[in-house]
Amino acid sequence: MKYISTRGQAPELTFEEAMLTGLARDGGLYLPAEIPVMSHDEIAALAGLPYEEIAFRVMWPYVSGSFTEQEFKDIVARAYEGFGHDARAPIKQLNENHFLLELFHGPTLAFKDFAMQLIGQLFQVALKRRNDRVTIVGATSGDTGSAAIEAFRGLDAVDVFILYPHGRVSEVQRRQMTTPADSNVHALAVDGDFDDCQAALKDMFNDFDFRDGVKLAGVNSINFARVLAQIVYYFSAAVSVGAPHRKVSFTVPTGNFGDIFAGYLAKRMGLPIDRLVVATNQNDILHRCLSGEGYFKGDTIPSISPSMDIQVSSNFERALYYAYGEDGSAVAQLMDELKSGGFNVSQGAMEALRESFDSGRVSEDETLETIKHTLAHSAGLVCPHSAIGIKVGEDHRTADVPMITLATAHPAKFPAAVEKASGEHPPLPSRMSDLYERPERVTRIANDLGALEDHIKGHIAE
Ligand SMILES: *Cc1c(COP(=O)(O)O)cnc(C)c1O
Repeated sequence: MKYISTRGQAPELTFEEAMLTGLARDGGLYLPAEIPVMSHDEIAALAGLPYEEIAFRVMWPYVSGSFTEQEFKDIVARAYEGFGHDARAPIKQLNENHFLLELFHGPTLAFKDFAMQLIGQLFQVALKRRNDRVTIVGATSGDTGSAAIEAFRGLDAVDVFILYPHGRVSEVQRRQMTTPADSNVHALAVDGDFDDCQAALKDMFNDFDFRDGVKLAGVNSINFARVLAQIVYYFSAAVSVGAPHRKVSFTVPTGNFGDIFAGYLAKRMGLPIDRLVVATNQNDILHRCLSGEGYFKGDTIPSISPSMDIQVSSNFERALYYAYGEDGSAVAQLMDELKSGGFNVSQGAMEALRESFDSGRVSEDETLETIKHTLAHSAGLVCPHSAIGIKVGEDHRTADVPMITLATAHPAKFPAAVEKASGEHPPLPSRMSDLYERPERVTRIANDLGALEDHIKGHIAE
């Protein structure tokens, strides 16, 4: 399988090259040149299989030129062995025809572990074979950073630096980033907000001397390998409620559009998905866009669902690429217009987006109300992001198509909001109950590209 850039001007790469690079050199995002399709019978045969086996069958066509079958089977097995639930992604019923897909049983309690644990193993195998090493730098509003540190800590072919906004992540998120003792992981508390961290990261990628000098690699959701890993649970969940013999819909709490874009690829692969519903908080650029108001940046307003406090949704570029008929130069032009505030989506592209996507927006009060209501009526405590999904999923649920809402984090990762809504304190799972006793290790650093690059150069292993 070859990988191409959404902006049409970067070289075609193999899966392994696209994964090790992250961002394309034309500023675009990598996608497979063709989307593989699974037949009705192949999908039906997934029902009841272990998660790892489904993962292997769904992802294999995307990676086959870069790994042997046995290598990839071993990678998948190692990726998910540390999960705290045998089903990996268990599903539970919320209401008539409404199900909750629990994606928070990984080591850092958010769905990002599904992709990051896999990517850690993929990097390690690929780099060993090349006898090479890379420097991973990531920007995080909390969950990506902890998942990346957990996935790469102790691997000898990588150094990991995570930039997070000082004082703006939850205590659990911070401790998950600052307590691992491995010498190849480095938490950097930047004096700035998440957008500053993301901008600094982009600047490092555009500084080609630095980029090539430290062999910079990115693991934010612009990396296609992350999207790939997330396709799997759409299949495992859908077959468990009757696909491919019936249609299913999904509601996805969305920030950077990575998770729901994986659902779009699952649909294009042949999974009979009826609707893909984007659920946003008050930072609703995606909801406004899908409602026909164009894609225009606003100011990010901090919310109780901080992992979705995003105004520029990087993976939406991938959806636009298909909506615009795989026209890379059209996408490049839109992204240029975005620099000066935003753009209107053409009528044809809007129709293409509406064939797959719906959307809803949830206020802070509605989020708290949904946490409370969910505890009282069915499914126990849920995190604020998951609550946003549940509210939008209820609004879009129909009598004939099962709705599956993605629960993206464990409630204990956001204890303040959960306790405020429900009056109950969500306990950490016992396997990490000593998190508050472990010593922390972090470097506070100015929001300054030179300072960040110097720090990174000075701390990579030779
Ligand atoms: C990252 C994250 C999201 C948003 O996912 P995207 O792929 O960026 O759309 C939602 N909820 C939680 C808990 C997250 O960590």
